[in-house]
Amino acid sequence: MMKLGPRVERLLLSLEAEHHVTVPIERDNGELAVFSGYRFQHNSARGPTKGGLRFHPSLDADDVRALATLMTWKTAVVNIPFGGAKGGVACEPSLLSQGELERVTRKFVERISQEIGPQRDIPAPDVNTNAQVMAWIMDQYSRLHGFSPAVVTGKPIELHGSQGREAATGNGVVCITENFLNDAGSSLKDATVAIQGFGNVGQFAALAAYERGAKIVAVSDVSGGIAAKDGLHVPSLVEFTRGRRQLAQYEADGVSRITNDALLCWDVDVLIPAALGGVLTPEVAKEVRARVIVEAANAPAGPEADEVLEKRGITVIPDILANAGGVTVSYFEWTQNLQCLHWTEHEVNRRLRHTLGTAYATIRDLVQSRKLGWRTAAYIVALGRVAKAAMLRGV
Ligand code: NAD
Repeated sequence: MMKLGPRVERLLLSLEAEHHVTVPIERDNGELAVFSGYRFQHNSARGPTKGGLRFHPSLDADDVRALATLMTWKTAVVNIPFGGAKGGVACEPSLLSQGELERVTRKFVERISQEIGPQRDIPAPDVNTNAQVMAWIMDQYSRLHGFSPAVVTGKPIELHGSQGREAATGNGVVCITENFLNDAGSSLKDATVAIQGFGNVGQFAALAAYERGAKIVAVSDVSGGIAAKDGLHVPSLVEFTRGRRQLAQYEADGVSRITNDALLCWDVDVLIPAALGGVLTPEVAKEVRARVIVEAANAPAGPEADEVLEKRGITVIPDILANAGGVTVSYFEWTQNLQCLHWTEHEVNRRLRHTLGTAYATIRDLVQSRKLGWRTAAYIVALGRVAKAAMLRGV
């Protein structure tokens, strides 16, 4: 559709670098464990590469390639001066002690310390990594290169993190959802919502939607899901899951247990997948009953599922727009670190709403004027910006 030409196509289809490392650590019992680590950089035409670190046993090179590429489009959609990268370690953090997790993180940073940097590639949290992991990354990198808070984002507030970063992805998901519903002549207030995944993104999205009057009727995590037709009390769920408790253990009047597959097909206005990718298979897509799917997770629906959903008239707000709140506030954190400034939470959230609101309006206008799906419109905006920068810089 964009007629970019074969040269640009080839440039955008290939990754700039793929760093594969081994991550050996000594377990608490004295045994040696060796994990696979990855840091892949897709494209840096628009600026230093940026993207999360995931600790998950099923992580492989193909996942990292796809996720790094998505980051290039995401930073372009919200027009922040970064390219895209992704990385992580193939491990199961719930089977590691805190000390082992710290050793995995520090060894991984040691192995990729020449490949990341404040002007080169800046990691952030993703599945199973959090502010504590980011603090270890900053510390380990700073031991090797001197004090460098801007090497990683999503750090604790006490260690040069930004106000509003922890909640940013979930808040951004709800901000985009609200804009969409308002444009469609309805509102978030009284809308029914189902959310898969109750980690960083899922919890903050649930809280933000709940506070704006939405009825959260189903949520789930890796242990399974729960539902309540009159709406769940989200603050109690957040409190309950603190300290590693899972939703399958939650009990309250009017709350029933459901499976993760059932949650994806729950009868709601808005479905928010906020766990792992690939959950909306073509078969599941045939059964989805939501009016709109807001992709808080990265790549929850593949191209085949997309086709099914489009035929069924279900709108999909794509990941590269829906969950871009996290990388946007990561950009604010990096900006503050480079200038040794601290913005208030109010300032961060004001700028977040502005950045997401602008991206949303640009894509909505394209959807309406060219009668496109939201994902296609978002890709046209993103690819156009990256291609332009790549051509201006030259091969
Ligand atoms: P997290 O580790 O904090 O939470 C993941 C949640 O998913 C947990 O509740 C876990 O129990 C659940 N889960 C794991 N496997 C599951 C399964 N098989 N079925 C159902 N639930 C399962 O991770 P997160 O940071 O909230 O990330 C969630 C998604 O959002 C990922 O796709 C991630 O790439 C994407 N994302 C995260 C950020 C961020 O800022 N953290 C930004 C953009 C996109």
